[in-house]
Amino acid sequence: MKIIDGKACAQQIKDQITKEVEMIRAIGFRVPKLAIILVGDRPDSVSYVRSKEKTCKSLGMNCDTYLLPATTSEREIMDLIDRLNNDRTVDAILIQLPLPEHYDSAKILDFIDYKKDADGLHLMNVGLLHLGEPYVMPCTPKGIISLLETNNIEVAGKHAVVIGRSQLVGEPTAQLLIRQNATVTLCHSHTKNLSDITRIGDIIITAAGHPNLLKPEDFKEGAILIDVAINRTEEGLEGDVYSPRTREALEQRLSAATPVPGGVGPMTIAMLMQNVLDMYKIKNA
Ligand code: NAD
Repeated sequence: MKIIDGKACAQQIKDQITKEVEMIRAIGFRVPKLAIILVGDRPDSVSYVRSKEKTCKSLGMNCDTYLLPATTSEREIMDLIDRLNNDRTVDAILIQLPLPEHYDSAKILDFIDYKKDADGLHLMNVGLLHLGEPYVMPCTPKGIISLLETNNIEVAGKHAVVIGRSQLVGEPTAQLLIRQNATVTLCHSHTKNLSDITRIGDIIITAAGHPNLLKPEDFKEGAILIDVAINRTEEGLEGDVYSPRTREALEQRLSAATPVPGGVGPMTIAMLMQNVLDMYKIKNA
């Protein structure tokens, strides 16, 4: 079984971004800037935001982070977004999700100028993706497609089974795979007899957030597993399928798999950085 090394792939992408940003700086132009808004203080969100900020700066780009208390009114958040939308030095805006429950997330996300929507979650970007003309792609699905491409995994004509239909991961991943001519089955929490479906899939993409969702025997011989999930268990981080317990049996069954950690996770952040640079380039073309 080939281990699909997301860490190495993400590093190559980040190295390329660093080079491009160095060139932008060398010719005396303003470098790209990401603005991140974090509302509330969920420890996992704080750590994700810190990591995004650190990566952005390590690639030579600018990053402004706005930390707002969970008591901030929706109007105040919108005012901040309005300022960032109109700030010509800001190329991309990211609202760290999930927002605390009392906010209308869709309304706030849709207030971002869709041309600065770093995560590709604005209504307009969702629509453009469905039409096959994406302006900016959501980071995790984009990272999955990039991993498949870099590892020469052909998807056209294959049966791809996507588990999970969230707007963040499952649904846009299914859309992108359809555009790449895969035959896609999209499964979710109401799907019956999940393993009957996974057993006939060539490429299985799991994003349910349930450790031990499937067993190695639930895959056909030679299938490819892209395990997107990040489950925190007593034994550490695990995917929906991939874990130190299942790795050996998976090796006998699959032709390739992404590990957890070190698979899709690093690609998500690399794709965010790519989105920031791409939005800068479109604006300054
Ligand atoms: P979500 O909770 O919004 O969606 C989960 C989806 O899985 C739902 O559509 C649900 O119907 C489906 N589901 C749940 N239980 C199921 C079951 N038993 N059988 C079939 N389908 C089932 O979650 P999300 O934001 O899409 O994230 C999913 C997982 O991916 C989480 O573990 C999350 O941590 C991880 N994630 C990883 C990255 C990354 O960069 N690797 C990025 C985003 C999310």
